[in-house]
Amino acid sequence: MKTRQQAFDQIKDGSFDLCVIGGGASGASCALDAQLRGLRTVVVDAGDFASGSSTASTKMAHGGVRYLQEAVNDLDIGQYHLVESALRERLGMLHSAPHLTRTVEFLVPCFSNFEKVYYGLGMKMYEWISGKSSLLPSRILSREEALYRMPAMQHEKLVGAVAYADGQFDDARYGLALVETFEAAGGVALNYARAAGFGKDEAGKITSATVSDRMGHGTLEIRARAFVNATGPFSDIVRQLASPGAAPRMRPSKGVHIMVPLDGFPDQDAVLIPKTEDGRVIFAIPWNGRLLIGTTDTGYTPGEEMVVKQEEIEYLLRQINPYLNSPLTADKVVAGYAGVRPLVAAAGVTDTKKLIRDDEVEFDAGTGLVSILGGKWTTHRLMGEETIDRVQDYLGARSPSRTWNYLLAGAHGYSEDYWQTLVKAYSVPAGLAKYLAHKYGVAAAQVLELTRADRYLAAPLVTGEAPIRAQVVYAARVEMAITIEDVLARRIGFQLYSWRGAIEAAPIVAELLRRELGWSGEEEGRALETYIAGVNHMISMAGQMPEPGPLAERELVLERK
Ligand SMILES: Cc1cc2nc3c(=O)[nH]c(=O)nc-3n(C[C@H](O)[C@H](O)[C@H](O)COP(=O)(O)OP(=O)(O)OC[C@H]3O[C@@H](n4cnc5c(N)ncnc54)[C@H](O)[C@@H]3O)c2cc1C
Repeated sequence: MKTRQQAFDQIKDGSFDLCVIGGGASGASCALDAQLRGLRTVVVDAGDFASGSSTASTKMAHGGVRYLQEAVNDLDIGQYHLVESALRERLGMLHSAPHLTRTVEFLVPCFSNFEKVYYGLGMKMYEWISGKSSLLPSRILSREEALYRMPAMQHEKLVGAVAYADGQFDDARYGLALVETFEAAGGVALNYARAAGFGKDEAGKITSATVSDRMGHGTLEIRARAFVNATGPFSDIVRQLASPGAAPRMRPSKGVHIMVPLDGFPDQDAVLIPKTEDGRVIFAIPWNGRLLIGTTDTGYTPGEEMVVKQEEIEYLLRQINPYLNSPLTADKVVAGYAGVRPLVAAAGVTDTKKLIRDDEVEFDAGTGLVSILGGKWTTHRLMGEETIDRVQDYLGARSPSRTWNYLLAGAHGYSEDYWQTLVKAYSVPAGLAKYLAHKYGVAAAQVLELTRADRYLAAPLVTGEAPIRAQVVYAARVEMAITIEDVLARRIGFQLYSWRGAIEAAPIVAELLRRELGWSGEEEGRALETYIAGVNHMISMAGQMPEPGPLAERELVLERK
């Protein structure tokens, strides 16, 4: 990718057909769709790419078995269509970025024969709706088979399980791959750039957006023929920037996930807990060497801090523990994250759990602003297509979308055994080669190439863990990462693996970013302190003892060198 400075200069000097505001799943997808149709497009995000809801998901490319259940129970055709299109899109995601996605089998524990039949029929229907997009046939497992596959499952009451398949993906890196692919197609992308106002012509149509650069370059005026608002849960703010007084449409809700060690859980199979105390389902899914458990669905108050709270951990453990042999305890939680669902309000629905996860393309005829509201990660591609159809209607000429099955950055030439090429070419252990291949696809070779020039970069960020220092340099040089959090939470994802591990890795990340981004020693110290304080705050909110202060940590690392 370009550097931020290059992107900034290009925006300053350019004029565009389309400006997309928001660089999460929806915005990146709109930008890619538009650029591939030949519209000169720029995308800006107020924070890092995919730093909002798009990194806080359960990381499932799915139709949603709960939504299917609701479609059947409530005879709701809207829910049914959402499940159907999401199941088709699920397959597209697996195809477009095979390195970032995989098929996982979910086991639904059954404590009676009735449950076996009930869930068995439900999953057959899920599979039937997916039609040609089906991943694997669903099936009923005996008690023995279920326990063989999932030894941690409750032995006593279990009579069997129902197995069905869904997709899993790396949301942060998938978002980045969309942006990289968009850039490779000729688009311009800038992170840490917030749209703060619009300029209009005499007819009231938007002709420019004023964007403030959070990294101190001042403000930018982006001129374009059309504007898309893809700001997820905060879409109302941008809608109201364009049309003050526009009635709010969003009804966001909060969801949290926790990570615990995989102990006793396999790396391949996941569990669906079919009944929670608030009438939903939750998942326990292997995720990069951890077990990801989530999610909650609670009201969101504007301005609320996005952290995992102790009571939310207790809620999740209360739901999963009846299905396990040895109950999980809160001290086992090694990381977690919280996010806001971008739900669209519906008349008469007060409970966010009942809101359909559908999207809506809204066109403001007064200003020309096109807003993409709501939706799911799984349907991001289709949402991009529908949004750009509307943009082209506004601009006056339609052309077909090209994003279906379009290969994303890292996917060209990738195959499941690609990691072996890395082992041969760079003499790295198989574990590291597989880890890098899944994060970067064929671009993993570029990461390892950095270690040839500088052996210091071949060392792990934290002893005994997979991430290596070269990934930090790659994130800064190629992936527009400019903060420690960009690197550890999204480019590498280590913060999701271990809060304490991320704190241990932070001083080396800060030092490498100083070298790459030309920070002063003072800037490095400040960045480190801010990052560690942030992660320590997450640890405290989860009810655990924070790590010692940043300076103590830093001295420890310097001594070790
Ligand atoms: C707990 C949870 C679990 C989920 N699980 C799944 C799942 O398993 N599968 C699935 O398919 N979906 C899932 N989803 C839904 C999915 O994550 C979201 O639908 C999707 O990420 C929304 O993407 P978005 O781009 O619309 O919003 P966001 O990712 O929030 O992106 C909006 C972006 O706009 C930027 N922005 C805001 N204001 C401005 C401004 N003024 N100027 C510039 N930029 C701005 C923000 O910085 C942000 O990056 C889940 C969501 C949550 C919260």
